[in-house]
Amino acid sequence: MTTALPVQSITRATCFVSTSALTTQAPRQALTTCSTREAWRVARGRRMASTITKATTIATNDKLGRKERVVILGSGWAGYAFARTLDPQKYERIMISPRSYFVFTPLVAGTAVGTLEFRAVIESVRRLGLDQYHQGWADDIDFARKVVRVEANTSDDLTAVTRPQLSPRQDANETLKGPMFDIPYDKLIIGVGAYAQTFGIEGVKEHANFLRNVGDARKIRMKILQLFEKASLPITTDEERRKLLHFAVVGGGPTGIEFAAELHDLVQEDLRKTYPALVQFVKITVYDVAPKVLPMFDQNLAQYAMDTFKRERIAVRTEHHLTRIRPDDACAGCLKLKFQEHGDEEIGAGIVVWSTGLMRNPLIEKIEAKALSGVNEATYKEAVLLQKDPKTGGLVTDEHLRVRIVPESGGQEQILSDVYSIGDCTVVAERRYPATAQVASQQATYLAKRLNKGDLETTPFRFRNWGVMTYLGGWRAIHQSSADELTGRAAWFLWRTAKHSHISEPHTNYT
Ligand SMILES: Cc1cc2nc3c(=O)[nH]c(=O)nc-3n(C[C@H](O)[C@H](O)[C@H](O)COP(=O)(O)OP(=O)(O)OC[C@H]3O[C@@H](n4cnc5c(N)ncnc54)[C@H](O)[C@@H]3O)c2cc1C
Repeated sequence: MTTALPVQSITRATCFVSTSALTTQAPRQALTTCSTREAWRVARGRRMASTITKATTIATNDKLGRKERVVILGSGWAGYAFARTLDPQKYERIMISPRSYFVFTPLVAGTAVGTLEFRAVIESVRRLGLDQYHQGWADDIDFARKVVRVEANTSDDLTAVTRPQLSPRQDANETLKGPMFDIPYDKLIIGVGAYAQTFGIEGVKEHANFLRNVGDARKIRMKILQLFEKASLPITTDEERRKLLHFAVVGGGPTGIEFAAELHDLVQEDLRKTYPALVQFVKITVYDVAPKVLPMFDQNLAQYAMDTFKRERIAVRTEHHLTRIRPDDACAGCLKLKFQEHGDEEIGAGIVVWSTGLMRNPLIEKIEAKALSGVNEATYKEAVLLQKDPKTGGLVTDEHLRVRIVPESGGQEQILSDVYSIGDCTVVAERRYPATAQVASQQATYLAKRLNKGDLETTPFRFRNWGVMTYLGGWRAIHQSSADELTGRAAWFLWRTAKHSHISEPHTNYT
């Protein structure tokens, strides 16, 4: 999916930087008065010392005029945009995230089919010149002591961070966890996003391909090629080819639709030339439980999308409830999909691309379940809970994005001092913003700018809807905003321009 993202939020993508970029954490003053090597030592000493600093020391240091220490959880749309906008002259910026890069998610579907290279959609957090970055998960938060407990991410696979784990890290077996350490904060920004929802459907975690990150996209890309190679083997029967080259997309939201469209283009424009004999076996199907796909678009635009897909021979099966995915014993590399609507009959496929709803991040689940004591003591004599949105489970904030707490026994909510939440893990009280990059980046920019100016109280956050657009394949798209609706080539042109400006625009700042 692509929504019309604010131009100033669009940056030129870069690939990873080497670990030597750690030197960018050296304090500026140190660099001017001593050699780079010495400065690095100073910086390293400072970093090491800071990780063992206790919250009590912070208060003392503040009196000495030290910059406030802002700890940012997450390097996604919310965390990255916030860190980039927050004034480093005023605040010490510390980021904790299991991945050291930001992903421009609207372009991920394009990387899965090779339209774009992976490095075009990621940007290293090291470019932000943060005071500290720690590659790890915030595992728990002690709000009374103002300390984040971090589990280092030493895994080689950085992709499995926002989707369900096959063997959960956070289970009863503590030995599965990575090394732990504490990071104190003065202000805490929670921007950990959400995980992919599987609805507990059998076989999804094991056999479906998620589409959330560049690692997921890379796996999909390899699998598509592998399926074509398997299908072209002389020992493969036509029956098997039909199964192997059936691409099932589960989820008729913008991401699922856009992936199906990009895949269709890949087949028609490239694979048709490489595997001319196989194109007749290719089938793309989008499944959704809802009566219609693209629910965020008006009926006429959604219908336009359906008509376009029909012409392109992409099947759309609405009101279809998947109940199981399992390997097909009779066809190596094939899967069998069982739907409530089809009884015992199972549908063969080579790949299932999973793009359905969101579920709560485990960190949010953990901190919402805890009774907190020792916070806002002046107001509450009893333990409190973080306020949780009953529908999504998201952290509830006020209109200034300050996290709310409620007494355990019920009663009037309050603000939890110095704790803010932004992005997909957040629900702003009385307003239900969609879980989109637009909302996350606008919240991040708003909050950082207000903290820079020290006037958070004065202006509440207001979301400005830039519209939504989705690519439909064959140079057609749909676009909808409060001002207009576009279909076909004109919408495609807009969609393409948005993509290109991300890739070619120079690095711009949010401020
Ligand atoms: C394929 C795809 C396409 C999309 N297309 C669009 C689009 O076109 N337009 C649009 O508006 N929206 C789009 N979205 C939605 C958009 O990407 C999300 O709404 C947005 O990423 C939310 O930002 P966020 O920062 O809250 O979460 P995320 O971007 O998911 O970032 C969360 C960050 O937190 C980190 N994290 C997770 N757990 C922890 C932890 N315990 N401690 C520390 N860090 C943690 C993660 O590693 C990640 O860095 C798309 C999403 C996907 C997956």
